[in-house]
Amino acid sequence: MKVAFFTNFAGMYIDCHTHCIKSDADISVLNFYPEEPIPALVKGSILSCGIHPWYIDPNKIQHDLQRIEEFCQQNKIAAIGECGLDKNTKDMNLQKRVFEQQIALSEKYGLPLIIHAVKTHHLILEKKQTKAKQTWVIHGYHGSVQTAQHFIDKEIFISFGENLIKYPDKFKKILNQIDLNFVLLETDDSNLGIREIYTEAAKLLDLDLDMLKIKIEENFKRIFL
Ligand SMILES: [Zn+2]
Repeated sequence: MKVAFFTNFAGMYIDCHTHCIKSDADISVLNFYPEEPIPALVKGSILSCGIHPWYIDPNKIQHDLQRIEEFCQQNKIAAIGECGLDKNTKDMNLQKRVFEQQIALSEKYGLPLIIHAVKTHHLILEKKQTKAKQTWVIHGYHGSVQTAQHFIDKEIFISFGENLIKYPDKFKKILNQIDLNFVLLETDDSNLGIREIYTEAAKLLDLDLDMLKIKIEENFKRIFL
């Protein structure tokens, strides 16, 4: 039975982080912000909601966190985020506080965390070490092989998007040196479809596209099922 399953089953296209309601994925995690109305779900989409470090408004933090918590209580969202830390955005102390509050929600409601990290990888790793049991996903990864390895050592997943196509040489090296059990793919806010990202990833890995789809689906299920 198992052999037949793998022989006949080509896997799904899964977009683990997108801002685009229209998608060519079979399953997508659609991001929205707390101040937005809950998006109408299309077939195959699930939702994530979080306070992005770019959009922290000190006057609205409590309100936004409360709204995210309500979505958790009402089972409206499948993940917290994107949230995180961005060195290029001001007030790192405030960012840390808001990130910690969202880690707390992720832990309280048993939901994975989708993370935006720019030049803050060490801080993210520190937080994971001390604070969190839930699964974390670094989205839109663009760091080094070494940093990717540090994340994977902490069982943090890494999601790759359009950078695979923009910087194929760099990402060919990364993809081929890390454990594929912790890899996901995404479109984020790009104009590309997830199928193009999959095709590029399969090319860079020199892997059969269907095998890649099966692998990513297994990874996704470890987080979201
Ligand atoms: Zn995003």
